[in-house]
Amino acid sequence: MPGRFDGKVVIVTGSSSGIGKETALHFAREGAKVTVTGRSLERLQAVKKELLESGISETDFLIVPADVTSSTGQDELISQTLSKFGKIDILVNNAGASITDAEGKTGVSQGIDSYEKTMKLNVQSLIEMTQKARPHLAKTRGEIVNVSSIVALGHGWQSRPYYSLAKAAVDQYTRAAAIDLIEEGIRVNTVNPGFVKTLFHEAELGWTADQAQEFYDDIGSNKYAIPAGFIGRPEHIAKAIAFLADRNSSEFIVGQNLVVDGGTTLVLGIHAAK
Ligand code: NDP
Repeated sequence: MPGRFDGKVVIVTGSSSGIGKETALHFAREGAKVTVTGRSLERLQAVKKELLESGISETDFLIVPADVTSSTGQDELISQTLSKFGKIDILVNNAGASITDAEGKTGVSQGIDSYEKTMKLNVQSLIEMTQKARPHLAKTRGEIVNVSSIVALGHGWQSRPYYSLAKAAVDQYTRAAAIDLIEEGIRVNTVNPGFVKTLFHEAELGWTADQAQEFYDDIGSNKYAIPAGFIGRPEHIAKAIAFLADRNSSEFIVGQNLVVDGGTTLVLGIHAAK
């Protein structure tokens, strides 16, 4: 059966786990050729196994172990994709994290080291990947989808200011890039997820899997946190990314933020009042 992304070549950064992994699987199942990447060789091997088990041929995916914050890592992603698949149609800038202060400080006391690392991963690497993919996306009149967050929107996140400001920068960069690049036929948008069950919270807070599950059960059943009544799953975000990457579905959406959060951003504190 023909797939929605037949013949398209997609790079998904941060696809060794969570939202990026599900996005890579989604594109591959819909006929795309996909470059999967991340730093963890173990997790990349697990994605390779899932791709093969889904019936995806090794000719249709590429695994590139790389640190997306390094210039050489970025160059490898682009050059290996071109050398195996010959072009780039879609770039999903998904790699990201809230990087904890080495001394565990939060709020305005959070150290400058965590500020620099958070900005480098969430913002600078996204800018550099955009610049490096640009000439190739111009040739295919391609798409960029940036993975931002609801923390970029009109709320303060007291304990993690740098992560929030990094994602706000992603939204603002997306707007500027969207105006600039649409002249070359390249569309740029963001998906802004709410709470999604991935390794994000374990990585950020150093939680065990059990502690993370407790958090997801708790927040997922709290209608004042997620009106939909359940925690987001990576596939919810993958489908939104695919929608914005599919020109047939979203051609006239340029430089926008698609919020996918089960209603979290609709809930004001007043609703929690007894
Ligand atoms: P995960 O921790 O499950 O996945 C993060 C991915 O980013 C992994 O594949 C990781 O790979 C990769 N990554 C992190 N640092 C680097 C690096 N330096 N170089 C290369 N790859 C890197 O989290 P999510 O799937 O949740 O996160 C995906 C995106 O979604 C992020 O941008 C996050 O900010 C955003 N988001 C997540 C939300 C959530 O509730 N989960 C909510 C809102 C936004 P590896 O470790 O192998 O390097």
